[in-house]
Amino acid sequence: MKLGPTLDRLVDALKQLPGIGPRSAQRIAFHLLQHDRDAAVRLGEALLASVRSIRHCSRCNTLTELDVCETCGSPKRDPHQLCVVESPADQLMIEQSMSYSGLYFVLLGRLSPLDGIGPREIQMERLLTRALDGVVREVIVATSFTPEGDATAHYIGELLRARDPELKITRLARGVPAGAELEYTDVNTIAQAMLDRRAS
Ligand code: ZN
Repeated sequence: MKLGPTLDRLVDALKQLPGIGPRSAQRIAFHLLQHDRDAAVRLGEALLASVRSIRHCSRCNTLTELDVCETCGSPKRDPHQLCVVESPADQLMIEQSMSYSGLYFVLLGRLSPLDGIGPREIQMERLLTRALDGVVREVIVATSFTPEGDATAHYIGELLRARDPELKITRLARGVPAGAELEYTDVNTIAQAMLDRRAS
């Protein structure tokens, strides 16, 4: 069945979303057009407005409607701590954990040489300038615990240590998740938790 050029364009656009394959894209398009045209208009308008008004914070790279985001501009945040994360979504998770009151730098990615993502693509120079501003005393590297995230953390640590041996550089501890029972936890996580154990 031919859908026509306009519907084809809609399905193609929906297919670009993460986790949406061709079948789901078609289902969403038909749903919106058949049953929920108001929602379709709201979605279209919200998307356009977001793309037009949301940009990256000039200090930390996170998504914001301001030139400098609310977190960077807040006098309540501790300017001596800088937490490095891969994405605004990761930053949001740390914020929701209510465990941190310092500032952030969002890399917008992680080193992945096979995909052509090198130090320039994750704005390493900007991170160095930000971390070495003389105010920051501790850089908390909170990249993912994947091979690429670990490599990125290692690279950041080496660069910062070479330029300022006084700077404290930490990495999030890895361990047993809250609420988990050891019996059902994978052995790599248990091994890492054993290595990273602390006095209680
Ligand atoms: Zn910011």
